[in-house]
Amino acid sequence: MKRNRTHDLIICGGGMVGATLAAALGDTPLRIAVIDLHKARQRWPRESWGIRTCALTRASQHILDNVGAWEGMVRRRVHPYSDMYVWDATGSGSVHFSAADVGEPNLGHIVENRVIQAALAKRLAELSNVELICPARIDTLEFREERVEVALEDGRELSAALLVGADGRDSWVRRQAGITTHGWEYRQTAVITVARTERHHRDTAWQRFTTEGPLAFLPLAEGHSSIVWSVTPEHAEQLLEMEEGAFMEQLGQSFEHTLGRVEWIAERAAFPLRLQHASRYIRPRLVLAGDAAHAIHPLAGQGVNLGLADAATLAEVIAQAWSSRRDIGQPATLRRYERWRKSDNIPMMGAMDGFQRLFGSELTPLCWARNLGLTLTDALPPVKRGFIQHAMGLTGHLPRLARAGGGISLLPGR
Ligand SMILES: Cc1cc2nc3c(=O)[nH]c(=O)nc-3n(C[C@H](O)[C@H](O)[C@H](O)COP(=O)(O)OP(=O)(O)OC[C@H]3O[C@@H](n4cnc5c(N)ncnc54)[C@H](O)[C@@H]3O)c2cc1C
Repeated sequence: MKRNRTHDLIICGGGMVGATLAAALGDTPLRIAVIDLHKARQRWPRESWGIRTCALTRASQHILDNVGAWEGMVRRRVHPYSDMYVWDATGSGSVHFSAADVGEPNLGHIVENRVIQAALAKRLAELSNVELICPARIDTLEFREERVEVALEDGRELSAALLVGADGRDSWVRRQAGITTHGWEYRQTAVITVARTERHHRDTAWQRFTTEGPLAFLPLAEGHSSIVWSVTPEHAEQLLEMEEGAFMEQLGQSFEHTLGRVEWIAERAAFPLRLQHASRYIRPRLVLAGDAAHAIHPLAGQGVNLGLADAATLAEVIAQAWSSRRDIGQPATLRRYERWRKSDNIPMMGAMDGFQRLFGSELTPLCWARNLGLTLTDALPPVKRGFIQHAMGLTGHLPRLARAGGGISLLPGR
């Protein structure tokens, strides 16, 4: 039986990446469905903290602004950081990056994930061409020559020219499509929480590298810090079970009491870390974006920044194909997205993996090399400026939405 095409684009996963893609194609003639297992929360007590946070680059800020979500995020709560201080626990090497070095007001923002998701969900609700279907789950998928057919568990049936798998690192869509991944477990688990410390963080993102893993204190509003503490899985288990007071003491010690005593913490959670890359991002009528395509170590806070760049690039590629009356679900169209994003994602994944290995090693020559590297970087302003521009996401082949005031347009009336 031939089903009617209900949509042009179906996005499975309305997390930060899937919702950004839908918002980027908002107010266009494309009919878009976003399916997610959960509905984003819109409200929470003002004094509470979401323990999952992201360090967003300037490029990501532009993307979220250009898709109409940034203002809603600022209204909820974002925190800029002006400095970054990184040091090695096993030597004297350290590096200090400052926004002032590149004449910028800040290096980026630390934002609770729930803030990003709430602002994006609010934006999607304003868009007449986007249908948010949640909570919902796909039961079956069928790839036909001209479209992809989706049956939801509640019996609804949808079909479109293209399905986007933006359903996170354990992507169901990716597995259904038979796309394999390669990568490895880090034997590290990130223990996360929010903490308040005796001394103010001075709007600085602090990161101490130990051979067990990096420990980051990322600045939030009202002197709070988002903690990402990468340790062995066994240590993570102990840290989660530990009494609050003992945890705060150990956290303070591991951070060399850089901001004084840890005085308060929110709840704790743990995430096993792995490197994972999909063998391909596309197949006929399917494309992967965000963590569904690539997952990396959070040590430089780049994961969702890569994902938001995926969303911005894919929106641009789809818009161009649509405007020139090309099929948006054809590999010929999607290959441009895959090439473009792999050229950005693969070097970043390699660099993060290299840093992780370099700083995780106890071998004397490597300890020496990394301390020298930090010291030299700190002493060479041009190298430092290059690092900062890169970390702000302002280098390479940027999609239009990643630039200030950038937008994409679709020719209507097709
Ligand atoms: C400890 C830690 C710290 C991090 N810090 C940073 C940082 O500072 N900066 C940074 O850039 N990145 C950071 N990251 C990475 C970042 O969290 C991820 O890259 C980001 O969440 C990926 O977004 P996504 O939308 O691709 O996937 P997800 O956030 O995983 O969203 C996937 C969405 O798909 C939905 N979904 C899943 N399965 C289905 C299904 N079968 N059907 C329908 N919907 C489904 C989910 O409900 C969810 O809404 C960090 C990660 C960790 C673990």
